[in-house]
Amino acid sequence: MPPSTPSEPAPPDPTPPDSLPPVPVSPQLPRSEPTPPAPTSPTPSAPTNPTPSAPTNPTPPAPTNPTNPKPPAPPAPTLPLLAVRDLRVSFGPVRAVDGVSLEVSHGPFGMALVGESGSGKTTVARAILRLVPAAGGTIRFEGQDVAGLRGRRLREYRRAAQIVFQDADNSLNPRMRVGAAIAEVLTAHGLAPRGGVGDRVAALLSEAALDPSLASRYPHQLSGGQRQRVAIARALAVSPRLLVLDEPTSALDVTAQARILALIRRLRGERGLAYLLITHNLAIVPGLCERTAVLYLGRIAESGPTSALLAKPAHPYTLALLSAVPEVDATARRSRIILPGEAVPGPAAHPSPHPAATAGSAALAGSAALAGSAGRGGPAARAGAATPPGCPFHPRCPLAVDVCRTEVPPLRTVAPGREAACHRAGEVLSGLRPPGHGTASSSRIGGVP
Ligand code: SF4
Repeated sequence: MPPSTPSEPAPPDPTPPDSLPPVPVSPQLPRSEPTPPAPTSPTPSAPTNPTPSAPTNPTPPAPTNPTNPKPPAPPAPTLPLLAVRDLRVSFGPVRAVDGVSLEVSHGPFGMALVGESGSGKTTVARAILRLVPAAGGTIRFEGQDVAGLRGRRLREYRRAAQIVFQDADNSLNPRMRVGAAIAEVLTAHGLAPRGGVGDRVAALLSEAALDPSLASRYPHQLSGGQRQRVAIARALAVSPRLLVLDEPTSALDVTAQARILALIRRLRGERGLAYLLITHNLAIVPGLCERTAVLYLGRIAESGPTSALLAKPAHPYTLALLSAVPEVDATARRSRIILPGEAVPGPAAHPSPHPAATAGSAALAGSAALAGSAGRGGPAARAGAATPPGCPFHPRCPLAVDVCRTEVPPLRTVAPGREAACHRAGEVLSGLRPPGHGTASSSRIGGVP
């Protein structure tokens, strides 16, 4: 199998952090092509770059103080913060993750992993954090092989990479006051001076937009959004360099979702955070993530810069996900692509090589279906499921042709910085849509809740 993600030598990010749209205010994507790569302004520390203000002096500009030259700025990190290559995770006969590759740059940076329930995205996250064993592939954090970490280095890694789970109820001890839950982390890692733990807890709660007086409450005395912010504050207590956000908003109401997303956005700027955002909701991605990877049945269906991928998908599955995003603006609404069957066929559907195609008319009917499926799939739901031959999406794909039923489409480059695993990616990228679904309906996306 070809590598899933290009080993691109750190391509210029077409959407630098500063250019991300504001999260809650303007969720719409630009209609035009993604912003081209910045004209790669050389780093100002390069000594060979003469200043343009000396046109009359043909000789190379001498340093202003040759006896005390300014020390060169430290080189920008060349290694990505996290590099996952050909990751495979199996649970018995089930391949939950099958050859996933992705990279997370140093912060501030956001990488989105999007897919339905059962697509394997949470398993990818757990493998990255060594919560489940990898059956193959490599995971490197700042160049270190995560699988080989032991002892002190493993503890350091566990501090540097933190996870915030979908449901804070499962990560907070119901019998422990939230202040004590945060203090426990600080004390365990020796991160607060004696007598200074309370102040540090208060500061972390404030950073998570919570009143420090809530430290004396128990989790059940807080709202869902407040509990999630406590979970984020707890993760931040160890100053992680990578945060894995596993469906951080899917258990919250719309208002709480907006506050959590705004908090993530603020923290990434203030702390220079890098994060892997796992979500089924494409609508929250544009304001938070520079790059997006779409996962289907444990494989990357498509990846690329978020703005380009959402403006012009190259994979029919991305089209279907986009069509399920609610759109407030009636003029921007897309006609919904109803996919037959489910991504996670049940054991009863297994005798057929195309189980999803025969699973009746259960439809991927919009955001409700996607939201409802969040967090309930995973490897257990796929137990006994077999990946269809050919393209794994072909039993549900409205654009499938004969070759799709027999040949696995390789993940290949379809545009600068973009990859897709689809025999018809070029056509989809050029505007091919399922019958009755228009040609350019994906140029906008619904609002961030
Ligand atoms: S390879 Fe064929 S079945 Fe798979 S997504 Fe592309 S068009 Fe659909």
